[in-house]
Amino acid sequence: MTCSQMGGPCDASMTAGSEKEMMDMGWKHMEEVHPDRVSEIKQMPKEDMDKWSAEFHTKWEAMPEDEVVA
Ligand SMILES: [Zn+2]
Repeated sequence: MTCSQMGGPCDASMTAGSEKEMMDMGWKHMEEVHPDRVSEIKQMPKEDMDKWSAEFHTKWEAMPEDEVVA
């Protein structure tokens, strides 16, 4: 998945073996590269967070297994 697919501002692509791993990698990337965005996300109300998680899950499920972008 790319950073922008996870709601981030750039197109850096990341690959992971599981949804949880993807989420962790996404966070790590955001904290390293977009700390401003992270503080914004942390201020989001819980319902927005839940919406974001649901969207993330849907996008993850829609990813073809072989779509590995190097
Ligand atoms: Zn990024």
